[in-house]
Amino acid sequence: MSHLMNTYSRLPVAFSHGEGSWLTDTEGKVYLDALSGIAVNTLGHRHPALVAAIATQASRLLHASNLYRIPEQERLADKLAVLSGMEEVFLCNSGCEANEAAIKLARLHGHRQGVDSPATIVMERAFHGRTMATLSATGNRKAQAGFEPLVAGFVRVRYNDLEAIRTLARANQNVVAVMLEIVQGEGGINAADIEFQRGLRALCDDRGWLLICDEVQCGMGRTGTWFAFQHSGVRPDVVTMAKGLGGGVPIGACLAAGLAKGLFQPGKHGSTFGGNQLASIAALTTIDVIEREGLIDHARSVGESIRSGLATALADCRGVVQIRGQGLMIGIELDRPCSELVLLALHAGLLINVTADTVIRLLPPLTFSADEGRELTSRLAVLIRAFLAST
Ligand SMILES: *Cc1c(COP(=O)(O)O)cnc(C)c1O
Repeated sequence: MSHLMNTYSRLPVAFSHGEGSWLTDTEGKVYLDALSGIAVNTLGHRHPALVAAIATQASRLLHASNLYRIPEQERLADKLAVLSGMEEVFLCNSGCEANEAAIKLARLHGHRQGVDSPATIVMERAFHGRTMATLSATGNRKAQAGFEPLVAGFVRVRYNDLEAIRTLARANQNVVAVMLEIVQGEGGINAADIEFQRGLRALCDDRGWLLICDEVQCGMGRTGTWFAFQHSGVRPDVVTMAKGLGGGVPIGACLAAGLAKGLFQPGKHGSTFGGNQLASIAALTTIDVIEREGLIDHARSVGESIRSGLATALADCRGVVQIRGQGLMIGIELDRPCSELVLLALHAGLLINVTADTVIRLLPPLTFSADEGRELTSRLAVLIRAFLAST
């Protein structure tokens, strides 16, 4: 019997090592990795530049504490500011922690505006994390069940429904922020319409609300731009990131600009591990490799060919509802629950995920080659056909 708490229903496999887009299990079987640890292994596995940078840093200094200056962290903050157009960066260790910082910023902002009980508008089917505040912001009743009382101060609306938010704005004087994923990950690869994003920006400006973008999954180049919000040209006031930021080393970030800038002062927030030497170097190196290898454009074009390849291969398949996504964040919605496909794919040497019950989710590393894209497309099309024929 395992001594691990029963938080995940794990697949019957353990991996021993990886190389690029490929993982080898403890029995020696090889798998094509089209999930990259849920959008974490940005550079695939064992990227030589990342391995070397981590090893060098480990041999020098792993951690010293935020009680002191950390030049590596300062350089990372500078880099993230340039890439995002944001102004300030707080470094932490995970997505939910980055979102906790964002939620605290919204509350500070509200109190500064004289709102005693500030509320943040959040979306249906959103996922923001598992800590109490981020779970309360998450739009999944199953994930929340049993953990009541939830944290107060969230109001939920339909995704992509600007009118609902305008109506709320008239009715609720406590609203101080809107929080959303530009592309919902766990919710089933649903993208925010460009017009919705621009309308939100205008409404936030008009009302003095913070626009908070959770880019924990869709950021870091995944959708074919550094940040998913960059497709619309809208600049948020707060952006959170984590998953792919350190290429596999845990690190998160909360970026602020505009009205959200300057809200945190010493004593208001912190994180023991946040942005330590090792994690900062991993993130700096991951960003550097993305730039040197042109992986943002690469993600856009390989993602495009995977989607069009799948569309061709599945054209006559009536159970396929939609193939969608941007860059290397891809969803294939079927007309029926399909979580069984994950195990079928595993047996066939392919790592994928199913989310929101009916959506096959692909999040390959940004280094995924065009050939690997074709390999993924053909293997997955066979599996989907067989699954649809048998259910
Ligand atoms: C994964 C995820 C989170 C939570 O990140 P953790 O590192 O697991 O805490 C938050 N928001 C989004 C959009 C995510 O995909």
